[in-house]
Amino acid sequence: MDALRIAHLFPDLLNLYGDGGNVKCLAKRAEWRGLPVEVVSVNHGEEIDLATIDIVFLGGGPDREQRLASKQLLRMRDALKQYVEADGVLLAICGGYQILGNEWLLGDESVEGLGIVDMVTKRVEAGPDRLIDNIVLRSPLADRPVVGYENHAGRTFLGQGLAPFGAVVSPMGHGNNDADKVDGVRYRNVVGTYLHGPLLGKNPEVADWLIGRAFETRASCTGAPVEPLGALDDSVEIAANEYMVKRLGT
Ligand code: GLN
Repeated sequence: MDALRIAHLFPDLLNLYGDGGNVKCLAKRAEWRGLPVEVVSVNHGEEIDLATIDIVFLGGGPDREQRLASKQLLRMRDALKQYVEADGVLLAICGGYQILGNEWLLGDESVEGLGIVDMVTKRVEAGPDRLIDNIVLRSPLADRPVVGYENHAGRTFLGQGLAPFGAVVSPMGHGNNDADKVDGVRYRNVVGTYLHGPLLGKNPEVADWLIGRAFETRASCTGAPVEPLGALDDSVEIAANEYMVKRLGT
């Protein structure tokens, strides 16, 4: 079988709060099942042919790094849009998630996004400067609650008909904005979220959903049957998840 190829876009710019750990989780979960896997790190200024990739990962970053990454991503916009519309799998966290929308916030300035997902990230008049908290969601991508940590200034508003990644169920935590009580977005095989953590280490079901979708997309191109993913011993991951859920009073 051809290796599962995971592209980590700009690990030198977008890698806040251990976001790169998500790539390690994806690779390990494939490896533990005996599936060949290859991680391609695409640093700032380097090129990647997305037609050779099964999963794209975009992390979060401080404003300056987010701006540099977004300039390069705008040059890749057509290829990235084509990848997403062909059901390519993409996980984007915080700053990387914001860039996928129509506009996002650089400091006080509204800047152009990729327009791949119909959403905007902007400033709101009322409320705290930044939304910083631990957070628990209920997401259709997982039976267990999804746990993580958010730290962002921009408030994201989804376009009509777009589904969030999950509903905020913890007493603390905000997600997309101060009002909607939801976090992130799901669009085709794109998952965008404000949850750092790293997300996938404590939420292995989400990791497996992404890996599963990657194989399904591949199968829809080759006609090969999709093998179900074998079960793994997730006792450590589940203990970490349950600890957070309990600690956050959910
Ligand atoms: N700079 C963005 C914001 O604060 C994203 C930060 C992040 O990725 N954590 O809204």
